[in-house]
Amino acid sequence: MSTGHVVVVGGSLGGLRAAEQLRAAGHDGPVTVVGEEPWLPYNRPPLSKEVLADPGDHDPARLHAGIAFRRRASVEDVEFRVGRRVVSADLARRALALDDGTALTYDGLVVATGLRARRLAVPGPTEGRHVVRTLDDACALRAAIADASQVVVVGAGFVGCETAASLHTLGLPVTVVHPEAVAFEPALGREVGAAIQRHLEAAGITFVSGVGVAAYAGVGAVAGVLLDDGRTLEASLVVEAVGSACNTEWLEGNGLDLSDGVLTDNDLRVVGAQRVVAVGDVSRFPNPLFGPDLGARPRRVEHWSMPTDTAKRAAATLVADLAGTPGPDTPFAPTPSFWSDLLDLRLQAYGSPALGSELRLEEGDLARLGDGAVVTYHHDGALVGVLAVNIPPARLRALRDRFAAPVAVH
Ligand SMILES: Cc1cc2nc3c(=O)[nH]c(=O)nc-3n(C[C@H](O)[C@H](O)[C@H](O)COP(=O)(O)OP(=O)(O)OC[C@H]3O[C@@H](n4cnc5c(N)ncnc54)[C@H](O)[C@@H]3O)c2cc1C
Repeated sequence: MSTGHVVVVGGSLGGLRAAEQLRAAGHDGPVTVVGEEPWLPYNRPPLSKEVLADPGDHDPARLHAGIAFRRRASVEDVEFRVGRRVVSADLARRALALDDGTALTYDGLVVATGLRARRLAVPGPTEGRHVVRTLDDACALRAAIADASQVVVVGAGFVGCETAASLHTLGLPVTVVHPEAVAFEPALGREVGAAIQRHLEAAGITFVSGVGVAAYAGVGAVAGVLLDDGRTLEASLVVEAVGSACNTEWLEGNGLDLSDGVLTDNDLRVVGAQRVVAVGDVSRFPNPLFGPDLGARPRRVEHWSMPTDTAKRAAATLVADLAGTPGPDTPFAPTPSFWSDLLDLRLQAYGSPALGSELRLEEGDLARLGDGAVVTYHHDGALVGVLAVNIPPARLRALRDRFAAPVAVH
């Protein structure tokens, strides 16, 4: 049982799960969630998938209703201040300043401010350039699709390729431009990335690989993409899917390590602060799942499973710290997992394939990905990631369970 006012900054999946888990961990004092977006917490993964492909109108309220998280009874008394941004924090005084000029004080603080879409810093018109991070982004893109004749997606990671696949499904000609040799190379490795790219190309999506964007052409609105090898691609609409930036500016000036998200210890306590924890995409923590070497290096994980896992541990930590009792006494070693839908491919991954220096094809044929494949990723001989493509859900549990114990003992 703990009391005191807990403020959660960030009103998305991480913020919602933090509020729920505070209640589950026995915190019965007031909880306030402050979120910059004008919406109650909603599910982000459909934004590049179902929301783009939805044949109905692009009314944000209708689309929000379809992806909003259910509000559980345990958080009925939690105050959600949506459409409000925290602009600064004074952690020594436990005080926050909001963008409407008001202040909030707290006894415990949860950082759940996640990421925002990065934008390309290249010259040219801004009209016609889109990103996909928020519901409002997706609505703006959907509204623009009606007049689009040729789409260029910049970036061939998950958000870029999912967006390309969704727009292709709507019948739009789509070209993906990216600087790597193949799509998904940093996340899944060259062989697997090449196989997925071939699959998408066979379906009609064009890839221009190994080049960057130098500028946008057009007067008033984007009409083309100038590549850094001198070529120009025609484009009436551009989607930039070039990664993300951490929303941590509001924490500056408190002596924290904000070099890549917010550095925390293994219990999600923000290093250098008291009674402050961080959850979700923005938290950078060591994960002993990956052994004494890789696991000791704090990392951020941008997967949907992480806000829930980190919120559970962070809430237990914060409730104990508020009560002055010992916190959890077992190592926090969550198994990251993510999925992606790309036309007829369903990718499901466990662990962190990006950490692998060697991959093994355990099942299937990369030339026929649609028929199903299992690839494992290894580092210094230890398993660090598993990727399943079009594997029936009933078999996924067994693949996930290969991470039941810390990787070092495999
Ligand atoms: C298009 C898209 C598709 C995705 N698809 C998948 C998928 O298929 N599978 C998968 O595993 N993962 C997927 N993800 C990743 C997944 O959605 C994220 O891991 C998850 O949303 C992280 O939640 P979070 O709450 O930590 O951060 P976020 O979702 O980034 O939320 C942070 C919130 O904090 C708010 N905020 C920021 N700064 C402030 C401030 N100063 N004051 C108040 N509020 C603030 C932001 O407005 C935002 O609402 C996808 C992400 C995107 C964008």
